[in-house]
Amino acid sequence: MAIERTLSIIKPDATARNLTGAINVLIERAGLRIVAQKRVRWSKPLAEKFYEVHKARPFYGDLVAFMTSGPIVVQVLEGENAVKAYRDVMGATDPAKAAAGTIRKAFAENIERNSVHGSDSVENAATEIALNFRPDEIVG
Ligand code: ADP
Ligand code: MG
Repeated sequence: MAIERTLSIIKPDATARNLTGAINVLIERAGLRIVAQKRVRWSKPLAEKFYEVHKARPFYGDLVAFMTSGPIVVQVLEGENAVKAYRDVMGATDPAKAAAGTIRKAFAENIERNSVHGSDSVENAATEIALNFRPDEIVG
């Protein structure tokens, strides 16, 4: 077992519905510690860079527009196997396929407006954290 860090984002559909606290309850109940958190509005260039891996996908433009449409809460989560642990509590990308008890099952509106982001590997987590936080903003 390894202590890892992962990047979480509470997306605009969730901040608009005042769900930050409710989502944080599920994060903390899963044993993950929120070691950095801030509410921001992404610039278009930052959103484009963050989702660069999806550039060729048909939903890329809509995704960038959605993620810059309102405030988001970016977070660093820390814990045992944090990357997978958070993916598990997030649930499937499409809320129709998400398991009971997951954040997306409880709160997501649809496959795009799905309330949360979580890094998919330790390597990507490090890159995504560096894009959103200065080292001194993370207090473990
Ligand atoms: P995840 O967020 O579960 O890691 P992906 O990395 O595949 O999912 O996709 C990134 C984000 O792009 C998703 O969380 C969702 O907001 C959006 N997205 C993914 N697939 C689709 C789709 N088929 N149509 C619209 N938006 C999508
Ligand atoms: Mg992903």
